[in-house]
Amino acid sequence: GDSLRDKVAIITGGASGMGAEDARLFVAEGAKVVIADLNEEAGAALAAELGDAAIFQRLNVTEEDEWIATVDAAVATFGRLDVLVNNAGILSMKPTEELSKREFDLVMAVNTTSVFLGIKSVSALFKAQGSGSIINMSSLAGLAGQISALAYSASKWAVRGMSKSAALDLGPFGVRVNSVHPGTIATPMTASSGVVEGKPLPFAAMNRPGLPTEVAKVVAFLASDAASYVSGAEISVDGASAAG
Ligand code: NAD
Repeated sequence: GDSLRDKVAIITGGASGMGAEDARLFVAEGAKVVIADLNEEAGAALAAELGDAAIFQRLNVTEEDEWIATVDAAVATFGRLDVLVNNAGILSMKPTEELSKREFDLVMAVNTTSVFLGIKSVSALFKAQGSGSIINMSSLAGLAGQISALAYSASKWAVRGMSKSAALDLGPFGVRVNSVHPGTIATPMTASSGVVEGKPLPFAAMNRPGLPTEVAKVVAFLASDAASYVSGAEISVDGASAAG
């Protein structure tokens, strides 16, 4: 398809899981992508797989100066920037008594402060050009509580709140901001807790985990002009999982 023809996107956490599928689908739909990740080996390999339509940029999403370098690299390489997918994140599952302040702070930095820095880094450019789409990966845990996931849930509720606020701030300039809320998706992040494609998952009414491609299609829709009046929305992709 060509639903993202001529669009340039930064995808954080683009070296693995949902971010990698976002990158593949975006390129298949005609976009150019900057795969921005800490994981240089996997990120560079994916960029090589995608050819001229992709570059890898090392980005630690918690570092403001690296964000500036990433936006500069996108514009220097592809001439413009239209889409930011704030997808990088880490999971933290621990009873609260065993959750250190250090881990809490790290989860908030990687999952939440990152989204603030990302939005901040593209805002001036998107406002000036009068267009842009920012897609923030929250979670079902950003709509409900999750057992033994106090820090993770807090970080993802904050992403949802930032998305709503940024949508109000940037809407007057034609810039859209939305949050995506996956349920349980079969990626490297969840593999260690036994989530595998095709395995029954009673937690979801559809009784299976979602696939990264099933989330990527929603992200690609939000990035595209087909979503031209969708902003400040929270979109669940969870096969009907009970929340709350
Ligand atoms: P994943 O672990 O497969 O990939 C995450 C990527 O983020 C990795 O490539 C990793 O290197 C990168 N990353 C981690 N810390 C980073 C940092 N500081 N700077 C730059 N890159 C960093 O994860 P996934 O399952 O594809 O999850 C993607 C997003 O979706 C995350 O935000 C996650 O919280 C969210 N999410 C996942 C699920 C799920 O079930 N897998 C459900 C809901 C939400």
